[in-house]
Amino acid sequence: TVNLFLVPTPIGNLKDITLRAMEVLKTVDVILAEDTRTSGMLLKHLEISRPLQSYHIFNEHKAVEKLVERMRKGEVFALVSDAGTPAISDPGFLLVREVLSAGLEVQCLPGPTAFVPALVNSGLPNDRFVFEGFLPHKKGRKTRIDSLVEETRTIIFYESPHRLLKTLEQLAESLGAERQACVSRELTKLHEENVRGNLAELIEYYKINPLKGEIVLVVAGKPEKRESREERQASKKEKWSKSE
Ligand code: SAM
Repeated sequence: TVNLFLVPTPIGNLKDITLRAMEVLKTVDVILAEDTRTSGMLLKHLEISRPLQSYHIFNEHKAVEKLVERMRKGEVFALVSDAGTPAISDPGFLLVREVLSAGLEVQCLPGPTAFVPALVNSGLPNDRFVFEGFLPHKKGRKTRIDSLVEETRTIIFYESPHRLLKTLEQLAESLGAERQACVSRELTKLHEENVRGNLAELIEYYKINPLKGEIVLVVAGKPEKRESREERQASKKEKWSKSE
């Protein structure tokens, strides 16, 4: 039996709630919410009436112990965040870890999350990718960006609209202005927009077009150097001569 369900909720379009998410939300004893007002509105829309309890990032440690105790006694919980999948750039990780280390059962339902449609919409390679979430706002920001210079996988960032231009400029400086990227804005909402281009083009675009709404930034990885036939043969020869 599951003690804690993590239930994804829509990132804009309310129709993205899954049948299973609704079923679980209807049957749990308590729904833990990042913001009880936001989740209260969603539950009202879905005509689901279960006890709601706030799960604050600030009192996580203390709150977690109490919750684990209640789970041990048999109460079943669901955790929801304001939007998308709980624990993905949202509170929840600590609770999951503690519940698991208490020997209890956790189950995350599949469902809405912003980075997956952004990655696929970008048209950039998605066989391998890295999720960087939010960049540090001040301290460690440049170090984090510089650590990605050699990254060959597609890179995904969550970003706020007022910081996007600065981020694009910093990325262009470190990774090169030619690097392909895509800005996905307001995914699943009325004004969804996916803007693709290299970093220099995106900078020009967002200097003119003011930015509002929620954003995922997807950036191509460093192009992998493909060995030419001559280079391959040369390195083979080198290996042979070493093994002789
Ligand atoms: N848990 C969420 C998820 O599964 O994607 C992420 C929560 S995080 C606090 C919020 C960030 O997610 C936003 O700043 C934005 O980068 C991204 N985001 C959420 N909804 C979005 C949407 N509809 N369109 C684009 N980005 C979105």
